[in-house]
Amino acid sequence: MINNSYDVIIIGGGVVGCATARELTKYDLKIALLEKSTDICAGQSKANTAIIHGGYDAKPGTKKAYYNVLGNKMFGKVCEELDVPHEWNGSLVVSFESDQDDKIFELYQRGQKNGVPNLGIIKHDEIMRREPNINPEARLALDVQNGGICCPYELTIAYAENAAKNGADFFRSSQVTSIRRENEAWIVETPSQIFSCKAVVNCAGMYSDEIHNMVSKDKLSIQPRRGEYYLIDKKYASAFHSAIFQVPGKMGKGILIARTVDGTTLVGPTAEDIQDKTDTRTTAEGLSKALAGAKITWPSLPTRAFITTFSGLRSHCDRDDFVIGKVSDAPLFFDAAGVESPGLTSSPAIGFELAEMVAQALNSGKNDKFDPIRKGIPKFRELSNETRAKLIADNSDFAKVVCRCETVTEAEIREAIRRPVGAVTVDGIKIRTRAGMGRCQAGFCTPRVLEILSEELNIPLEMVRKFGGDSKYVYGKIFEASEASHD
Ligand SMILES: Cc1cc2nc3c(=O)[nH]c(=O)nc-3n(C[C@H](O)[C@H](O)[C@H](O)COP(=O)(O)OP(=O)(O)OC[C@H]3O[C@@H](n4cnc5c(N)ncnc54)[C@H](O)[C@@H]3O)c2cc1C
Repeated sequence: MINNSYDVIIIGGGVVGCATARELTKYDLKIALLEKSTDICAGQSKANTAIIHGGYDAKPGTKKAYYNVLGNKMFGKVCEELDVPHEWNGSLVVSFESDQDDKIFELYQRGQKNGVPNLGIIKHDEIMRREPNINPEARLALDVQNGGICCPYELTIAYAENAAKNGADFFRSSQVTSIRRENEAWIVETPSQIFSCKAVVNCAGMYSDEIHNMVSKDKLSIQPRRGEYYLIDKKYASAFHSAIFQVPGKMGKGILIARTVDGTTLVGPTAEDIQDKTDTRTTAEGLSKALAGAKITWPSLPTRAFITTFSGLRSHCDRDDFVIGKVSDAPLFFDAAGVESPGLTSSPAIGFELAEMVAQALNSGKNDKFDPIRKGIPKFRELSNETRAKLIADNSDFAKVVCRCETVTEAEIREAIRRPVGAVTVDGIKIRTRAGMGRCQAGFCTPRVLEILSEELNIPLEMVRKFGGDSKYVYGKIFEASEASHD
């Protein structure tokens, strides 16, 4: 039995799916997004380098080049509307060996062809002036002035919150298991529900090949390509101003050093093709490659300042490009498949164009009530004492600091749960507030975060999960407190 009928169903709640949902709410359409994980932002969108790429790297004429350059131009406005942290601190692509110099000129030419504004090439002295911690062997650098950094999870969540505010429905823990055509409609099944809709948009990231292949004879294949990282403590936030790339290779943009908008510094990522689409382990081999590569850029890299390691999986498509748009042999079915890097940067443009394509195909008018503005959760750590005092006067939960490393208050955590498409797991709290992302990596705040989730969601502690599935923290009581008091 069909539970729900929609005009459009989006499959996948990563940055591309959520951007598309938000753009579609600008039209007069009934929209649902289905995400297989317990929360949105569960795939590539949560583990990447967070660079707003300039657009010099992709081959001219490819979809990657087109969407990167357009997405970069749209990025600032989207972040302003959605209150998402971002910074235009530029990128440098640096040669450290004489045989790499030609590549810098090649990237400059490529960037010109792609229409990247204000590209330049700078020499050793200027590189050293701008970035005194860089390896003094630095020779030439492509100066990418329109490069930047952003918060990828806040962007994904902000797109989703704004889409929900404008009427889109979000179904999490809803893995699409089959899609079929019946009476001019698409029937989309998850283990617990059956949906029908006029149009489908496939934004399933690593699994976008499987979703595409359910409806098309023109098969796609996605190869997982793992990237491993170290994360450096905020103490080194001023080590580099721009993101520092090395010359790219066949497997991607290479190892870089990049500050995040929160002041930590990313070192990595490696690029290794693997078999398992879920294998987000870090490995001794991968991390040592990341470290050796990073030391070329930053010889005095402070290894004692590493606070964690992690990996992300790129969804590399056998077409070696993004696959965006109508599927030729499936009516009203649209793909955003194989969106690997620079997919984060491209997300505003991909969402915008996909929504336009779908709305045109469905002959839909505009939604006059669309409100583009979303305000983020107040970040106590960034506020003046005066503003803090005002917040505490209104809500005493602002006076209770739960995560001491990142100064995240109970009020922020409760709001993260209460918002539309709110947090339902410990990791959901982490990506919405930064609780657990600091130096102690959740060592102190986890018990209180578990209690707050249990209270707000009205579930026992044993049911609170780290990221869904069986990722439990609490298995039951060892003894009652009353028994303990007799000892
Ligand atoms: C290591 C690494 C570094 C990167 N660095 C950058 C960078 O610096 N700058 C940049 O611009 N880009 C970067 N990228 C690329 C960027 O992260 C991705 O292009 C972008 O996040 C892709 O978003 P997405 O929504 O397509 O995919 P995802 O974020 O993977 O989302 C897909 C979603 O679909 C869901 N899903 C899958 N199957 C189903 C199903 N059957 N039913 C329902 N839901 C399903 C998944 O659970 C997931 O949540 C990087 C990527 C990686 C991995």
